[in-house]
Amino acid sequence: MNLFRKWRLCLNAGKANPALAQAQMQSFSKQMPLMYVIVIIDTIALAYVHYPFAPKLLSLYLPAGLVALSIIRMITYWSFGRNPLSDDQAKSRLRQMTVLAAVLGGIFSTWTLTLYAYGNAYTQVQILLITGVTCFGMIVCLMPLWNSALVLVISTIGVVSTYMLVSGKTEFMTVSINLVLVACVVLVVLHRYSRDFARLVAHQQAMDTRQEETQELSDKNLRMANQDSLTDLANRRRFFSELKARIETGRARKFGLAVAVLDLDGFKPINDIYGHAAGDRVLIEVARRLSEFSEDVFATRLGGDEFGLVIENYVTDEELIEMGACICGLLQAPVNTGSTMAQMSGSLGICKFPDSADTAEKLFECADYALFHAKSLSRGHSVLFTEGHGEKIRDERSIDRRLQDADLENELSVAFQFVVDDSIDKIVGAEALARWTNPVLGWVSPAAFIPAAERSGSINRLTEIMFRKTIEAVALWPDDLFISFNLSPHDIAVPEHIRHLASLVEQSGIAPHRFTFEITESSFMHDFQRALESLQILKNLGCKIALDDFGTGFSSLSHVRNLPLDRLKVDRSFVNDIESDQASRAVARTIIDLCRNLKLDCIVEGVETVEQLQILKEIGCTKIQGYLFSRPMEVATAMQYVKDNADIRQIA
Ligand code: C2E
Ligand code: MG
Ligand code: MG
Repeated sequence: MNLFRKWRLCLNAGKANPALAQAQMQSFSKQMPLMYVIVIIDTIALAYVHYPFAPKLLSLYLPAGLVALSIIRMITYWSFGRNPLSDDQAKSRLRQMTVLAAVLGGIFSTWTLTLYAYGNAYTQVQILLITGVTCFGMIVCLMPLWNSALVLVISTIGVVSTYMLVSGKTEFMTVSINLVLVACVVLVVLHRYSRDFARLVAHQQAMDTRQEETQELSDKNLRMANQDSLTDLANRRRFFSELKARIETGRARKFGLAVAVLDLDGFKPINDIYGHAAGDRVLIEVARRLSEFSEDVFATRLGGDEFGLVIENYVTDEELIEMGACICGLLQAPVNTGSTMAQMSGSLGICKFPDSADTAEKLFECADYALFHAKSLSRGHSVLFTEGHGEKIRDERSIDRRLQDADLENELSVAFQFVVDDSIDKIVGAEALARWTNPVLGWVSPAAFIPAAERSGSINRLTEIMFRKTIEAVALWPDDLFISFNLSPHDIAVPEHIRHLASLVEQSGIAPHRFTFEITESSFMHDFQRALESLQILKNLGCKIALDDFGTGFSSLSHVRNLPLDRLKVDRSFVNDIESDQASRAVARTIIDLCRNLKLDCIVEGVETVEQLQILKEIGCTKIQGYLFSRPMEVATAMQYVKDNADIRQIA
């Protein structure tokens, strides 16, 4: 019963499993021509031998028909048989093959048995032999199709052996028994083979499925690795790989290739005020606008509110700049965040390939640099990276390099710019300003080397050296002069470092209240609490704190209220055009009033002309720092200046 089930399963295997049917037909189709060659040769051999004594129907027409049928089958195979089959086609071909094996086997064996009556003993042996050989030859060819092989054996060996057995001749009986036994053995072997074949196909199928799953998984991973999950735009990794690919393919391109980095202005407040869900909506909407903007712009999200664009196929610089302006314009339309209509803008930095940079990294770096300029000088607009920017970068790089190797103790010096109180016509103090003269670069502006020191992390050391030099230089100054000293946000961010500066104040022998430390508003952007802790250390010692460059940064009133300030310094940008610009005058007046109301000391920086001084006096400010009274001067000159002023005061 068990054996019978196995055989039945084997018989129906092809029907149940379309992949197996396909594999069986594919394997058999290679042998099929050989099978018909065997049939044709054996048919001709039998017909030839029986032609002299058998009727024409049996020795000519019927074999000719059989040969013709075989040839037609071979031709059909050569024409269509090698085409890939669908599942259904494979199953139906399997069925056809079984029927064909029965029909062909039946015709062949009936024909040979009919011939049997016309020959002699030799021809009868030939019939037996050829039937056996043909049948076994065909079985070997039918190896992948066990059903067909079984049917063939029954319709040939089965029929012929039965006939021989009932013939009563011992020789024939033994041959037929032998034939049946061999056929059975061949069938068993074939059965095993077809079972292994089915297993092999199933294994291959499983491997294919696993491979498909692995491929699917790896496709998914690849997508995830290259796509931004929030906006569905390509991500930073894809931005660079795509840019590199386009640079490679586009080296000989006729039209332009450029990179743009876009940063949203005013995105943080949206996130802070309306929540992250609203922020996400803004990013999704911006991504949609960018991706739909043009076929020539490949938009990606680099992270946060920063987007990277690869722009292609522009012809002139003007066209590129126009494109940049359109992209910025695109972002100015309000975004519906669900709870409100958010209004923002975006600044864009653009860099051209290969004019300004010829690798993906450099293009990005330069576009980012142009973005920095857009952000600081023309928010909401685009800036194209120029040769001038390139020179600036090169300067910054060489400053960075030299600063790293510099002998700061010897190369740094301090300069003093005096502050005058015009109402009493005397100097009240001085600001210490860092000066760096490098053997290779020569004199370098603090506006260049202070940011470089901040970038490289050497600012704390620089500040300490500067402060020691300042203390040393002012040791002999009169007690009534204050000394202002600039601190970087990076100094304020490290309370331990400020503690060290405080200890230098204590060791200096100079009264702490004479020291004013100047800070800028950006000191509080990163970590307000730590910055406050630093200021408290200085305040507790008795030092004073001034907020420098007031009016240029965020100029938040809450900073003025929440910080332990003693003084505000009005930035010189308001003084430059105070004579002609009503707005600058109004800002200066407001800050001076603010100081008066909050009882803060006020110094206006950058006063260069008598007219400016006059206006400032009219709006209530008398403490002035500027070239009109004093340019920054080196230690010895400053000492002499202090002495001369003291003499003047004594004479007065
Ligand atoms: P600041 O602290 O606002 O210093 C005032 C700057 O304005 C000085 O430039 C000074 O020379 C310049 N200035 C003063 N009056 C006038 C004027 O009438 N007209 C013009 N055109 N300029 C005037 P300087 O020395 O080049 O310093 C630039 C900036 O570098 C400083 O701005 C300060 O932010 C920074 N800095 C200077 N020394 C140090 C330092 O030791 N440590 C730190 N962290 N920063 C420093
Ligand atoms: Mg200052
Ligand atoms: Mg200043």
